[in-house]
Amino acid sequence: MAFGSISNSLKKTRESVFSKISRLVTAKNKIDEDVLDQIEEILIAGDIGVDTSMFILDKIREQVKKERYDSAQELNRIIHASIAEILSTPTFKMPENKPYVVLVVGVNGTGKTTSIAKLAHFYKSNHKKVILAAADTFRAAAIEQLCLWGERINCDVIRHQANADPAAVVFDAVSAAISRSVDVLIIDTAGRLHTKVNLMSELEKIKKVISRQVTEAPHEVILVLDAGNGQNALSQAREFIKTSGVDSIFLTKLDGTAKGGIVLSIQRELGIPVRYLGVGEKKEDFAIFDAEEFAKALFEGI
Ligand code: GDP
Ligand code: MG
Repeated sequence: MAFGSISNSLKKTRESVFSKISRLVTAKNKIDEDVLDQIEEILIAGDIGVDTSMFILDKIREQVKKERYDSAQELNRIIHASIAEILSTPTFKMPENKPYVVLVVGVNGTGKTTSIAKLAHFYKSNHKKVILAAADTFRAAAIEQLCLWGERINCDVIRHQANADPAAVVFDAVSAAISRSVDVLIIDTAGRLHTKVNLMSELEKIKKVISRQVTEAPHEVILVLDAGNGQNALSQAREFIKTSGVDSIFLTKLDGTAKGGIVLSIQRELGIPVRYLGVGEKKEDFAIFDAEEFAKALFEGI
């Protein structure tokens, strides 16, 4: 994806966090404890998280002590470098297993179904054969929504009726993926939080059904988080990590929020890579996360 789109969707985050810090330092023209306190406040208000903000502040302190810091530009360089350090993740590789089974989990409304369509579209654009599984059988509308996306991106959807056993849908989908020689199978799941215990045991059951047919699968469990939920997204993540295991994170709705700093918290405090970004409602509004590009976009024009 073009750098421009990431940059655009981080505009609010940039303005509410990094431009503010830059203006503050330019106005004060030195970094003392008072300025550091104010930087800390801005970082925390920007959903970067206490722990992660402390890490960045320590880096600034270290550097200021060492180099007698004296310009806003220099400060930006230090912050940029510590952010790049936090964000560094292994580069994305196209999957080699076939079928590559992806299980997508997350709370309702975070953007699971839309993100699945984006990911499927991405793989298809890279010449992969993709099918989808409608294992969110809790509401008929959820199945219809995935099927509609399937038509739009020209991708088959394995479905049963509403209220069917999700594990049965998954069983059929994995069988279809094998017999049709599919490269990537992406499974949509329900995410109703109020019956959390059931949801988590349902996910367990789904995972068992998958691994019985394809050893080592699911190859990737993607947790979808809404960036706009800020620090709450982190508590959701902890819940899913504890009970269903999470390999990577798809962070959605970066376009509508000033809370893009949450990427830093997720990466540093959870230790799970943010691999995919959602930056709008269309199938193209998607990016594979790139640490350098992201860090650059946070400081663009500052
Ligand atoms: P699910 O309940 O987790 O499956 O979520 P949906 O895929 O149904 O998405 C919920 C709403 O979020 C829909 O209106 C989507 O269009 C919207 N949405 C999903 N991803 C993004 C995104 O990256 N940016 C924006 N602005 N909206 C998104
Ligand atoms: Mg859905």
